[in-house]
Amino acid sequence: MSATIISGKEVSAQLRAQMAEEVRHIYEEGHGNKNFCPPGLAVIQVGQDPASSIYVSNKKKACEQVGIVSFGYALEETASQEELIDLIEELNHDPHVHGILCQLPLPAHIDEFSVICAIAPEKDVDGFHPVNKGLLAIGRECLVSCTPLGCLALLKNQGIQISGKRCVVIGRSNIVGKPVSQLMLAENATVTIAHSRTEDLPAVCREADILIAAIGKAGFVTKDFIKPGAVVIDVGINRGADGKVHGDVDFEGACEIASAITPVPGGVGPMTITMLLQNTLHAYRILTGRQ
Ligand code: NAD
Repeated sequence: MSATIISGKEVSAQLRAQMAEEVRHIYEEGHGNKNFCPPGLAVIQVGQDPASSIYVSNKKKACEQVGIVSFGYALEETASQEELIDLIEELNHDPHVHGILCQLPLPAHIDEFSVICAIAPEKDVDGFHPVNKGLLAIGRECLVSCTPLGCLALLKNQGIQISGKRCVVIGRSNIVGKPVSQLMLAENATVTIAHSRTEDLPAVCREADILIAAIGKAGFVTKDFIKPGAVVIDVGINRGADGKVHGDVDFEGACEIASAITPVPGGVGPMTITMLLQNTLHAYRILTGRQ
């Protein structure tokens, strides 16, 4: 069997074009209204970690692409936690800002959880605030983390049936594994969360109609983990000794047995920033009463 390749690049491009259209309408409607604020995302970076700088720059570029205004805040590596939280509180009250993102990781002297908790839940476009985490857990409307949302958007875009299907998620992190499991449950999948202590992991995974790998180990999921015809979503981003990016799934082997699979790169990766834009527009609609 030769699996269908699910292109996150293509789905991202479609979704970004739709969002650009929506933003264009928002500008048209606001034209001439002196109180009009277009959708705005504040992106905070503390220090100059090179990887973070690339992520921040990609996020700003993506905003521009769809017409969302981005406000960049670059704090010194030595900035205090108080300084950072003061800035967040200011942005919480700024009507031009509908989403706030603080690029992680933060320098060691700053407590990430306190910073995440300082962001107003309704502007928490990363979906990391405990209020949003709790709302997701009880199945209520909220802002959901971008990578899990991206996985779901890919499945939906491909018209893959989720309801009633067996889904196995490998990984239980707060950023990917847990929220993607909750999203799949909300779509009426029967969900198993597997992790580093799971016994006979390949057998558990072979039960899956939809297998989602979020582990952080290149090529860990071989074809022995995959039921013939299953859909495989590979969240992993692992930099190999060859300097290339590899997924958690052995792509070549998986393609022989899966019915559809996301590649790495070009699968879930491009969807993450697209979902950040989607979350910013979602926050904008709610904050401006458009919904
Ligand atoms: P994490 O390290 O926080 O969690 C990894 C999970 O994998 C843990 O819950 C652990 O129990 C499980 N695990 C580890 N070893 C295992 C084993 N031998 N068997 C079974 N389970 C095992 O990582 P994370 O933040 O959830 O990220 C997972 C992967 O996804 C990483 O490669 C990361 O780079 C990638 N990622 C990609 C995106 C994206 O935009 N595509 C976003 C976030 C994370």
